[in-house]
Amino acid sequence: MADFKTLLQEASERYESACRISGSERQTQKTALIVYAHQSPASFNAAARDVAVEALTKQGYKVLVSDLYAMNFKASATADDIKGDLKNPEHFVYNNEMMAAWQEGRLSDDIAEEQHKVEQAELVIFQFPLYWFSIPAIMKGWVDRVLIQGFAFTMQKMYDNGVFKDKKAMLSFTTGGTESMYQADGIHGDINVLLWPLQNGFLRFCGFQVLAPQIFWCPAYAPQVARNEMLDSWRERLHGVFAEKPLSFAPTEYFDMSFQGGFRLRPEVKEKCASLTHGITTAHHLGKPLPPDNQTKAKES
Ligand SMILES: Cc1cc2nc3c(=O)[nH]c(=O)nc-3n(C[C@H](O)[C@H](O)[C@H](O)COP(=O)(O)OP(=O)(O)OC[C@H]3O[C@@H](n4cnc5c(N)ncnc54)[C@H](O)[C@@H]3O)c2cc1C
Repeated sequence: MADFKTLLQEASERYESACRISGSERQTQKTALIVYAHQSPASFNAAARDVAVEALTKQGYKVLVSDLYAMNFKASATADDIKGDLKNPEHFVYNNEMMAAWQEGRLSDDIAEEQHKVEQAELVIFQFPLYWFSIPAIMKGWVDRVLIQGFAFTMQKMYDNGVFKDKKAMLSFTTGGTESMYQADGIHGDINVLLWPLQNGFLRFCGFQVLAPQIFWCPAYAPQVARNEMLDSWRERLHGVFAEKPLSFAPTEYFDMSFQGGFRLRPEVKEKCASLTHGITTAHHLGKPLPPDNQTKAKES
């Protein structure tokens, strides 16, 4: 029979080992932020959000949710976003005042809290219904007020060199229109074109690795069984989401990043691209046919 000293020694080793495991788990636990914009907890968007919370939590991730309508999140970018005196009250320039306020810790509490969530997150999911080919106003307000100059980008830190280059981001949204309406020959036009201002305009601009969007086509007119299948495939996708390859954009090094060079493609790159069948991206099309699915699917390597 083991003596008391040995038992004590073993217990102490087990305790130390348990501490080491929980310490390393703490270090490796990833965080996801879901920025969510729907008014109704009974909506399909709410169901998509719940699936994401459950699937990511099950994988051990810490999941933060910003429920913008429930928070009554302010959408307008105004001087109320700044504590203390303005630098130039005669001519209010939001960008300049916000950058100074961010540097001096004078941002309103709601913005500072959201920025803290973004800092923690390795993955940011924007969950919303498509409104006027874009994000709802309350979510646009979140983008305008949270992703401000200094915190989310600078002239030196954008695109490939962006502040959030080690983070991933994804749009997950529902539509009222059907998938066929959003084809190049459909009434609403190519969804890849619609996605460019969002995916390149603020996600990639701030450096995020942009994952393919999750599009729930027209759930309001889909039969119940099809809606369930959409949620099942979302759940399945989320299980491998952190290993997903991001969408392709034009590398920043392709451009002359100076005012003198106009931030345009370098002549030698333009020359190389002359023989390409397709443009580089949906918007860097160079007058050529658009690369297929550029804003909806990651390139197969
Ligand atoms: C201002 C405005 C602008 C718009 N602009 C556009 C536009 O530009 N382009 C466009 O395509 N559309 C547009 N729409 C339409 C809008 O995108 C759709 O109404 C929206 O995407 C539908 O999503 P929802 O979550 O609101 O659906 P809901 O109506 O909430 O849900 C759809 C169905 O799913 C069911 N459901 C809920 N939970 C579950 C669950 N757990 N499992 C299975 N089923 C469930 C609901 O009961 C319902 O029957 C616009 C709408 C508005 C108000």
